[in-house]
Amino acid sequence: NPASGETWFGHPRQLARLFTTEAWERFGYYGMRALLTLYLTKHFVFGDREATGLYGGYTALVYLTPLIGGYLADQYLGSKRAVKFGAIIMALGYLLLCFGGETAKPYATIANQRYAIEVVDQADSEVRYLVDGANKLKIKGNDDGTVSLLAPDGSTARTVEKGGFESGAERSSFYVTIMLLALCMISVGNGFFKPNISTMVGELYAQGDKRRDAGFTIFYMGINLGSLFSQLLCPFLAVAVGWWAGFGLAAIGMLFSWVLIQFDGGKLNGYGEPPVRTGPDRALGIYALALLGIPIFYLLFVNLMNAEPPVPGSGIVGYIVSLSLMGKLLFGTFLIAVPGILIWSFVNGERREFQMMLAAMVLIVFNVVFWTLFEQAGSSLTLFADRNTDLSVFGLFSISAGQTQFFNAFFIVALAPVMSIIWTKLAAKGIEPSIPVKFGIALIGVGIGFLFLVWGATMVGPTFKVAIWWLAGLYFIHSFAELCISPVGLSMITKLSIARVVGLMMGVWFLSISVAQYVAGVVAQVASVETVGGQVTNLKVSLDTYAGVFWTIGLISAGIGVVLLLISPLIKKWMHGVQ
Ligand code: GLN
Repeated sequence: NPASGETWFGHPRQLARLFTTEAWERFGYYGMRALLTLYLTKHFVFGDREATGLYGGYTALVYLTPLIGGYLADQYLGSKRAVKFGAIIMALGYLLLCFGGETAKPYATIANQRYAIEVVDQADSEVRYLVDGANKLKIKGNDDGTVSLLAPDGSTARTVEKGGFESGAERSSFYVTIMLLALCMISVGNGFFKPNISTMVGELYAQGDKRRDAGFTIFYMGINLGSLFSQLLCPFLAVAVGWWAGFGLAAIGMLFSWVLIQFDGGKLNGYGEPPVRTGPDRALGIYALALLGIPIFYLLFVNLMNAEPPVPGSGIVGYIVSLSLMGKLLFGTFLIAVPGILIWSFVNGERREFQMMLAAMVLIVFNVVFWTLFEQAGSSLTLFADRNTDLSVFGLFSISAGQTQFFNAFFIVALAPVMSIIWTKLAAKGIEPSIPVKFGIALIGVGIGFLFLVWGATMVGPTFKVAIWWLAGLYFIHSFAELCISPVGLSMITKLSIARVVGLMMGVWFLSISVAQYVAGVVAQVASVETVGGQVTNLKVSLDTYAGVFWTIGLISAGIGVVLLLISPLIKKWMHGVQ
């Protein structure tokens, strides 16, 4: 039942309510995301490897659950009930994050002796820590990876060889468990919310309604409008008041989202309604199962953290063995689903249908590369912002590391209208790039964004910090790339799929993003640097580490993008006129 009657910017007026509901949900999601990695490294004082691994596991779950949530809504709940349920679970998850206990207590182990340590000076490039105990030594990380212990007068008391120095933190396992459960709640809630609110947008338009793509573009603006404000405000509160305040604001935003959909004043009547079924309503059973799913996710999650790095030189087999159970499951499902669905469509579809499915699958595989790089934003790039970026703006004021996440949302809101005008103009001349060309541009763009930042890293002074504009430049390029791939992706799937398997293909699309989040976590782990008490020991070493990883992934992605451009005529042929 496509909408009729009153309009909002030429669109069904229901779009306005879905727009605000999604804007507030994303306010919560991205506000919390801007804090998470910093919270893990500074509050729980996890090392980089654990923090970025956890972050990758969490975001992988966030994009995996829509598969299930979408299915349950289609079969049993209807989109609207699923969205309402998801909203409550997510709000509770953010609220739970407000309870974090005390900051973990860092320690250093030197020659089997454990010392409590305290950060005493992080103003210059040599971060120093006081080693508590009889000696009252300071720690200085050296460029070659060794660590020097300095006497109070500044003279070197002792240099510890690589591996002879370890640091960690005493943290409350109770609060770690609470935090992990909160992350699992948010991913479960998101699975009910995120796919189904998009389905409701789709319902507003009749098949073939020309306004559909524009409707989704407006909706995408809502996503970024919400996240823009929270990525400024939540990190601000976290610094000014405390972590709990930042997470609390995310919870409040999520609560607004729930109020908007729960008390819609009948505006959404007839949309997202449950499917017509015989037999009893299964909603309560599904809600109960979803709640049971939270501790199961918790186990997957803990497993991801425990994954060991591959033994150097052990090759691809060693690499696969080193993946956590969750990684193996994700990759395994993806590697079985892609050829499996293709074989099915080869057998069951006509030649033309098979080719269209093939085109969709090839683009889904390239999609993994894009999000792997793009999703460094919340992990390695946020840590880079914290450690190797001069965050002062025109020398007038400084923003916090978490607030750099606002750039992406800001550029999306600014660029989306410009880009849609450009596409329309090019289309009028008959030279709008095809979907595979847009994907290729996105891959090259996301790579160039990183190369741009690495260029900036070659120009740092003795503080080893790049000016904030280099990071803003990266996000500008990434936002342009995002607009070439993200809004076109979903609609492309609906158009290329064989009708009977369109839901499944949507699922594979989300699965590809989930795989990407996991790989993004692994990439961020490769970019780990040594920290003590949540601070890096040597800013030059950390800058070199980031630059090395960013340079490599930037080149790989740009290279893959060029390959995609080269094969794009073939993929375009397989698409049989779909635009
Ligand atoms: N930024 C968009 C959102 O949050 C798209 C993210 C994605 O598809 N990976 O909805």
